[in-house]
Amino acid sequence: SLTIGIVGLPNVGKSTMFNALTRNNVLAENYPFATIEPNTGIVPLPDDRLPVLAKLVHTEKIVPATVTFVDIAGIVKGASEGEGLGNKFLANIREADAICEVVRAFEDDDIVHVNGKVDPADDIDTINTELILADLQTIENALPKLEKELRGKKVTPEYVNAVNEAKKILEAGETIDHAAQAGKINKDDIYDLHLLTAKPFIYVFNVDDAELSNEQLRKKLTDLVAPAKAIFLNAQFEADLTELDEADAREMLEDAGLKESGLDQLARVGFDILGLQTFLTAGEKEVRAWQIHKGWTAPQAAGVIHTDFERGFIKAEIVSYDDFVAANGSMNTIKEEGKLRLEGRDYVMQDGDIVEFKFNV
Ligand code: GDP
Repeated sequence: SLTIGIVGLPNVGKSTMFNALTRNNVLAENYPFATIEPNTGIVPLPDDRLPVLAKLVHTEKIVPATVTFVDIAGIVKGASEGEGLGNKFLANIREADAICEVVRAFEDDDIVHVNGKVDPADDIDTINTELILADLQTIENALPKLEKELRGKKVTPEYVNAVNEAKKILEAGETIDHAAQAGKINKDDIYDLHLLTAKPFIYVFNVDDAELSNEQLRKKLTDLVAPAKAIFLNAQFEADLTELDEADAREMLEDAGLKESGLDQLARVGFDILGLQTFLTAGEKEVRAWQIHKGWTAPQAAGVIHTDFERGFIKAEIVSYDDFVAANGSMNTIKEEGKLRLEGRDYVMQDGDIVEFKFNV
């Protein structure tokens, strides 16, 4: 399954956030390298529709989609040169499908900052520079071979041009993800290089309560990383939230003037940048959100439930979530009102589709 690697400088609150994400109790230590072994946390994708459906179809069982986070060891300057834990760090990032960069924006004199001061822009620069240098190394290593292959017509001039274009972007200090979002390069053209900075990025700013409601600061930090997504959360507050039962947690959120927890936001944005979406099934046995890639067709979606469903696919009976709720979950009403759609092999799945697949065995 696809994973999001959590990275950041030491002491920025990665462990605190990761532990809150997974609700486990690995100690958050106040020193670098505390999180050397990559840990995996699988968290539910928040989806308010599921309990609504469960009520309508009278089931207790809800199975949400999930988002997988991997906590990656704290990066240090010089990682790209294989210094210290550098190699391991880069290898772990290479395995992740997206990068969640945790950046410290909270001030606390008791908690040492590795660079001596709290400076989000500088911290992002430190991390991204290491990733960019590692990518430049990848390209330097690939180019001699590529030029030989070009002479032997084993690769196209367009491909070599795209690689050189990527090199220029990186040399200018920009990540490939950033450049791609700005329309400067197409990631697909250089997919074969598997560059670290071509992975989608999310930035999580770990802030204190005062900063959380400081619109000016938020705008400044949002602009700093745009068009990548920025999420603002207080890791300590999120950790405290996970200690409470649901009702108390909701009350604590409301008291803080928040509609949803930062971790829920992170799970949703993370799921989205991985290129994933869900479709729904609702029956007496269970209500479930199934994870597929954006753009998948009905037979591909069927294959997620069972390979037989894909092989023997005949059609998909689909009703939208809104129509299902409007009809109080009554299939008769849905059919009478012409809201049940029969979709074939080429149908591209849409978010909120409630599906029943028809298939041959
Ligand atoms: P990591 O090295 O990035 O994993 O950082 P940790 O999660 O271990 O956090 C480092 C220290 O900062 C710990 O003492 C945390 O309790 C503290 N910390 C984490 N998040 C916050 C926060 O939002 N505000 C404040 N004041 N302290 C925090």
